[in-house]
Amino acid sequence: MHEMGICDGIVTAALETAAKERAVCINSIDVTIGVLTEIQEEALQFAFTVITKDTIADRSALNVTMLKARSVCGECAAEFEHGRFDAKCPECGSFVCSLLQGRELRIDSIDID
Ligand SMILES: [Zn+2]
Repeated sequence: MHEMGICDGIVTAALETAAKERAVCINSIDVTIGVLTEIQEEALQFAFTVITKDTIADRSALNVTMLKARSVCGECAAEFEHGRFDAKCPECGSFVCSLLQGRELRIDSIDID
């Protein structure tokens, strides 16, 4: 389960930020995750509960925004959403497409006290 390692990175970054700000408590962490990272939100939430135990993020909420994969067609310039393995233009059927979104893995904001 690679969510554990990824979540560890998120929590470590949040704790470092909180320490710099001399926070006593982390209320929530907002993250954006693209579907192509293959991260499962449920697994990430589970990892978050485990990793934040006995830290100042113990009672915090992990707010996850999942982004679909999105590409632009190299032939007709149509933009379209697609699943993990089917980046094919729905307008012209071309497979010559460039990924626009879907690999995101970022912390948007951290709410601390
Ligand atoms: Zn096309």
